Amino acid sequence: MRAIAADPHLYAMAAAVTDANQRDHRVGGRPLTYPDWCLVLFGASVRVFGSASATARAFADPPVWHIVTDQAARTLGADAVSGLPPRGPNRDHWGYFVKHRLTPQLLHTLVGLQRDLAVARAQEVGLLNPDDAHSAGNYRREHVVGIDGKVFDSPLRTLDTHRVDHRTGEIRPVRQDPARQRYGEAGTDGLAWGTKYAIASVRSPLANHRVILGLAHFPTNAPGGEGRVFTDLATDLARRARGIHAFTADGAWRGTHLATIQTTTGCAVITPARRRAARRGGITIAAHSYAAQPLPWSSRRAQREAACGGHQLWAGAGTLFEQVILADGTSHFAELTRHQTKRDTTLRKDGTRRHQLYARYTLPCPGHQPHDWWEPLLPVHGDQQAGFNRSEYLRAVPITSDRHRRLYGMRQDTESLNAQLDRAFYGRRLPAWGVHNQTAVVLLATMAENAWARHVWNAAVTGQRGGHPPPQHHAA
Ligand SMILES: [Zn+2]
Repeated sequence: MRAIAADPHLYAMAAAVTDANQRDHRVGGRPLTYPDWCLVLFGASVRVFGSASATARAFADPPVWHIVTDQAARTLGADAVSGLPPRGPNRDHWGYFVKHRLTPQLLHTLVGLQRDLAVARAQEVGLLNPDDAHSAGNYRREHVVGIDGKVFDSPLRTLDTHRVDHRTGEIRPVRQDPARQRYGEAGTDGLAWGTKYAIASVRSPLANHRVILGLAHFPTNAPGGEGRVFTDLATDLARRARGIHAFTADGAWRGTHLATIQTTTGCAVITPARRRAARRGGITIAAHSYAAQPLPWSSRRAQREAACGGHQLWAGAGTLFEQVILADGTSHFAELTRHQTKRDTTLRKDGTRRHQLYARYTLPCPGHQPHDWWEPLLPVHGDQQAGFNRSEYLRAVPITSDRHRRLYGMRQDTESLNAQLDRAFYGRRLPAWGVHNQTAVVLLATMAENAWARHVWNAAVTGQRGGHPPPQHHAA
């Protein structure tokens, strides 16, 4: 709570709420008992206490409320807290704030403001530094953003619409959560009932230290599905933060998404490759078989392989393979040696940039000079005609490499974040009804997480543990 109340970003968000409501003030109306920042801190504290009612109980305790106002006075000045009641806001104040102060349009604006504040926070705590060199193919954790979908359980515990009172036999309707939908969970057989958000975060090398960079609610029927929601979030964040070098996500992204993100942002995407059984034409590498497509012929390639008669080259698992027919008639796929990766940027007439990634390959050629060339990793002219899904089969980091295992491992971090957010709320259920209220709670929970990131960083920088004063030595 001290971390939340000490974070200037919470007050910046509150100021945006106040600004957006200015007009109503001029028209008239009662002054608010609690200024907006009190309710922003209340909402962020739901992440701490688990529900609005638990937060209200804590804030009703004058010593607890004093912790909040004491921290607020340091940021806003003593005048800002001098006229406040001795106890904090209650659930009615919170309900009024979410319903009347946060219009749907303002909430949308705040979702964008959170992303800008989060990028600033990331940079403040040593992540996404825009001055760090961007080396294509060689990405570091501090510059890799994980995106994941998270279904928050609805506050509703039952799928029934009516409940029978066993004592009286009376049938009563059950309160319904209009936001609740049934989401098929990627990678699992199960289905989840609740409200789904795409959440982007960047993890630091410090233990349990991360910044949530953005969130986006999406319904089950979102156009383009999860893949497009993730893509929109990634491209929006790349516009806000130059320090993002790569994104990682699970299987939600396919060729078109990979092409869009990488060509428009220049950031790499680290995501698993499509699998296909060997008997169905997949290329087997170690324990897994991957889908592959023949590398199409281009005039350059034809020229390169003219003298030797050409090779059977396949793209799969993010890199290139040569198909070699063995003496017994069976075939074998040999992975080509891949060297460095580079990125080219072209400025288009409309002012936008288009990025291309290239990987340098060498291929030994018996009786000839080895072939040596830069293979484009993002779609080029002719791919469409050849039916070649280049960004699906060729990747900035090959799936076969240790580097991919290490970078994709960063996605695991998003799962620990998910678990942490689950445990944050009472009964592991979102303590709000409807998309609007739920988004307000989740948005302010991300602000609480990022306040904690600042607190942990400041404590680490000042050499203190967890922000507590240095341990005192007492006589036994
Ligand atoms: Zn050759």
